[in-house]
Amino acid sequence: MNNYTDEKELSILKLEMRGVSRRTFLKFCAATAVLLGLENSYGSVLAEAAAEAVKKKPIIWLQGQGCTGCSCSLLSSLNPGPAEILLDMVSMRFNTTVMNAAGYLSVDVLDKTVKEGNYLLVIEGSIPTADPRYCVVEGMPFEELVVKTAKNAAAVVAVGTCSAYGGIPKAGITGAKSVSEIITDKPVINIPGCPFKPDWLVGTLLYYLSFNEVPPLDNDKRPLAYFGNHNIHDTCPRVSYFEKGQFLMDWNDPATVNWCLFKVGCKGPVTFSDCNRNWWNDGVNYCIRAGSPCAGCVQPQFYENFAPLYAPLFDLAAKEEPKEATGSDGGRKEGFDGLSVAVGAGMTAALVGGYKALQALSKTGKGETKDG
Ligand code: SF4
Ligand code: SF4
Repeated sequence: MNNYTDEKELSILKLEMRGVSRRTFLKFCAATAVLLGLENSYGSVLAEAAAEAVKKKPIIWLQGQGCTGCSCSLLSSLNPGPAEILLDMVSMRFNTTVMNAAGYLSVDVLDKTVKEGNYLLVIEGSIPTADPRYCVVEGMPFEELVVKTAKNAAAVVAVGTCSAYGGIPKAGITGAKSVSEIITDKPVINIPGCPFKPDWLVGTLLYYLSFNEVPPLDNDKRPLAYFGNHNIHDTCPRVSYFEKGQFLMDWNDPATVNWCLFKVGCKGPVTFSDCNRNWWNDGVNYCIRAGSPCAGCVQPQFYENFAPLYAPLFDLAAKEEPKEATGSDGGRKEGFDGLSVAVGAGMTAALVGGYKALQALSKTGKGETKDG
């Protein structure tokens, strides 16, 4: 047994001590490989990458203008817990929610890791730019800290929609910006969601650690495997009701409780994520199956352009003027450009069967990039 294998064995042993069996862990890695579009046999490659990560890749996790929901989502995930994998198997050097150290001690750890370089930088929360006092972390305006920390990072991962696209804070007064609007000289991977689903992050990190490259991304810089390849509406269990024009209008009416949620605000037709294929909380459920319309929480339009969340897409389109995006992807329009015209032209009939047009107008979905 060589040292490399020893490290792998040690990592698996640590998981076993936390109640995650070797079999469960390897099964998780194999399933992650399949989700990422790799052959099943790549599962062991991912497992080795996870073990190797102990030695190789420190992680700095910064939290800016957000609610800490993304950290909570990660930490409350189930077996085999991404929390175990990230906290036990990867060298998480800095995360203000979970670290014991504070004050000078934590700043020292951060500075030392930045100096060493070659770490992964994970950023949660948006970056306020209207006034540096809106978010100060470790005594430093958050934007300054992000720029300083990104300098020596191997790659940057924006977790949660606040960090990926501005999210809820962007609807306020702080001039909230996404990570890719601030960091433009390195690959940025977006793992959006409000909060994000833990396996999206773990799978992406394992891919990066295995192949030392950013996975294929969609047009909104999200891993294709989890986002751009999957439209919520296309495989929705309620889609037959959509096609028959049967829409839930009253949650208290048991006769229509399983009908399509479009008219109570479902953004599924313009939302791209694998939520309805790989359910949340270790496969327990997801929004639409629990009776809630998809809020489109992984989309760049969330929250401002999808609010109020219970408003149907066509109503939003009628009221919204399209907004130019200011992001580094340059020129992509947010909002529902073109939909207003469609509604004005009496396109209510196209509601059934016309969702492909909605998807095209949302200008998202399948992408191309390998390097962000
Ligand atoms: S509009 Fe929403 S609830 Fe209705 S079929 Fe599409 S995704 Fe499902
Ligand atoms: S179903 Fe929609 S709102 Fe729910 S988590 Fe997935 S993308 Fe977000």
